[in-house]
Amino acid sequence: MTNPLLLHLTPEEIELWAQGLLPATRDAHLAQCAACRAIAEPERKLIRELAQLTRFAPEFGFVERVMAKVNVPTPSSPHLRPYTDS
Ligand SMILES: [Zn+2]
Repeated sequence: MTNPLLLHLTPEEIELWAQGLLPATRDAHLAQCAACRAIAEPERKLIRELAQLTRFAPEFGFVERVMAKVNVPTPSSPHLRPYTDS
């Protein structure tokens, strides 16, 4: 009985829309509803930015290789303790 054109999008539907997976009937609601677009547009922007971050992330192991060369002293190193009981 409920007209899908009149229902606001759920968070799940907004996520689907951001991924281009929203059914056309719900997409039609978004086209005519400023309230839903105000929520959905930043969501899509965020998802696109996250996708770009993933694409440009350093290859696996990059941080570990850099840290191995830098040789950062850590508080757990024995010689950094102020005194020992031994
Ligand atoms: Zn709406």
